[in-house]
Amino acid sequence: MTGLTLTIDTTRWHDHLRALAERVPGIVPVAKGNGYGFGLRQLADETTRLGLRTLAVGTPAEAAEVKEYFDGDIVILLPWEPNDPHAVEQARDPRVIVTASRLTDLEILANLGGDRPRVLVEVLTSMRRHGLPVEDLQAIDMWKDFLAIEGWTIHLPMRGDNNNRVEADKLGRAALAVFDAPLWFSHLPTADYLAMAARLGEGKARLRMGTTLWLGEPGALKTTATVLDVHPIKRGQRVGYWQRPAAADGYVVVVSGGTANGIGLEAPTSAKTLKSRAVSFATGALEAAGRALSPYTILGEKRWFAEPPHMQSSLVMLPAKVDPPNVGDELPVDVRNTIATFDQIIFV
Ligand SMILES: *Cc1c(COP(=O)(O)O)cnc(C)c1O
Repeated sequence: MTGLTLTIDTTRWHDHLRALAERVPGIVPVAKGNGYGFGLRQLADETTRLGLRTLAVGTPAEAAEVKEYFDGDIVILLPWEPNDPHAVEQARDPRVIVTASRLTDLEILANLGGDRPRVLVEVLTSMRRHGLPVEDLQAIDMWKDFLAIEGWTIHLPMRGDNNNRVEADKLGRAALAVFDAPLWFSHLPTADYLAMAARLGEGKARLRMGTTLWLGEPGALKTTATVLDVHPIKRGQRVGYWQRPAAADGYVVVVSGGTANGIGLEAPTSAKTLKSRAVSFATGALEAAGRALSPYTILGEKRWFAEPPHMQSSLVMLPAKVDPPNVGDELPVDVRNTIATFDQIIFV
């Protein structure tokens, strides 16, 4: 086994997925981008295994791919774009539900010809990303007879306070006053969603979930890299592509995983706490000084990169005072699953 490896405790992961799916009626799994590290195919298969008949993807291209192995309904989350021929093609598929975020697009969809396109109408939220402002919602009256309106979509910011519940309530009421259709939420806290779903009644609320579903049981997921080589080095000896001198005696440890795997590409965190801000400041500052802490843990500690990661391997430094690992050892590595590309995924 070499390369960057994701090891999944299958029973634990499946138990978590099933428990969440049972607790959240109307859940719509989201599979987009790198498939949260698992790949779109795996997530589509898990959705089928859960007995769920709707899967959300990000783009028309992802919808086209997922269709090959998921036989339920597919929701495209990014706003429908009339100038994209792939988006137009997907809107003609009776299995696909598109998201319309502008009145002009509703008009174009209504005039597409063929069967009525299935659409979710997006309501603009405090995110201010996409959607119709509340005062424009009534205008859907003009087009609604030519469309199959499957619901309203309400995509909220990530807030830990009560504001999402308040906003969901306000926008939900405004939308329902215009047209009675299910409300599809994103990032509404689960407890608030469950209360809302109970109030609206069966089939009237949906909750799209990616991270909380797929990555919500971190104990079931383990990421490791392999030690590929170990070399002793003396202070001042040069190392790597950039021939930087070693700061001290020790070892150069060559580990699997590089930029192709998303190593060294840290997605920005929201850095909520003072401590996490301090950490990102510290690592940024060290990077500016030409050194960066790597995501690899050797003997219980994160170790420094000798230089920026290569495409498929990385060089990290170990001080002389420790026993170096052996070639073939597996090391824990911290990567964000939403940007990682694993060389292998192992179910145990
Ligand atoms: C990506 C996406 C989600 C899923 O987000 P997570 O934070 O991963 O749960 C939900 N809704 C919309 C509209 C999205 O684009």
